Amino acid sequence: AQAALLQSQKLDALGQMTGGIAHDFRNVLAAVAGSYSLLRRKTGDPGLLRTIGIGEKAVERADRLINQLLAFARRQPLRPERLDLAAVLPGVRDFARHSVGPGIVCQVAVEPDVWPILADAGQLEVALLNLVVNARDAMPQGGTIRITARNLPVGADAVTTLRLPPRDYLAIAVTDTGGGMRPEVAAAAVQPFFTTKDGDKGTGLGLAMVDDFARRSGGGVRIDSAPDAGTTVQIILPRAGADGEAPVDAAAPEADAAT
Ligand code: ADP
Repeated sequence: AQAALLQSQKLDALGQMTGGIAHDFRNVLAAVAGSYSLLRRKTGDPGLLRTIGIGEKAVERADRLINQLLAFARRQPLRPERLDLAAVLPGVRDFARHSVGPGIVCQVAVEPDVWPILADAGQLEVALLNLVVNARDAMPQGGTIRITARNLPVGADAVTTLRLPPRDYLAIAVTDTGGGMRPEVAAAAVQPFFTTKDGDKGTGLGLAMVDDFARRSGGGVRIDSAPDAGTTVQIILPRAGADGEAPVDAAAPEADAAT
């Protein structure tokens, strides 16, 4: 619980900091990008063009980072609704297929008797696509991504190890056949800015955002991974009650109270 609180405070601080500087920072980036494109038009020198290309890549990376930071800063209030995963997940799979490229198969399997969940549909889709992108990155030689959903009745192992309040949950799992994670990587993976991807590829914010979303929705994230054994990341979310009761937005109560 202490670690969860720390994580949540870290994200709040990050949000406040980012909101303030993001706007100025983007203007600076736009000016740098503009200068590069001017230089590009004025020179035919291959060496200089290569250097300009490196600079442009750095600007792109900074832009991507600031966009992800902004998504954090905004920390959109959740609009939880009753969702039928059998309806939601095929859409996620179709979208995923476009972003993984050839060589990677995307499958969905939802058990027929799976319960409805209570979650924000848009933010759930973003979270799942984050997991799909990670799965893709873990399989440069191709492989299979499986998105599955199953019921976790009161007392289920996955729930008690996360120390969630006892009730019914669901697990939405994204499984890949990629290189997996060493234990110390798996342990650090949800920390903001933790990344093992080099240079312009990773921001280290994907899993932090997924974890934040799951906690605020009244659930959590579980990672099962081992080197060369692939990875399963599960988003655990509360079952929708018969009365459509709302989940606890523990980490950001003020954000939701405002809507
Ligand atoms: P990023 O993808 O930008 O690095 P994330 O927070 O999404 O940031 O992931 C953090 C790190 O966790 C990754 O750099 C990688 O080392 C590890 N990771 C995440 N998902 C997977 C996966 N499916 N397979 C192997 N490693 C993973």
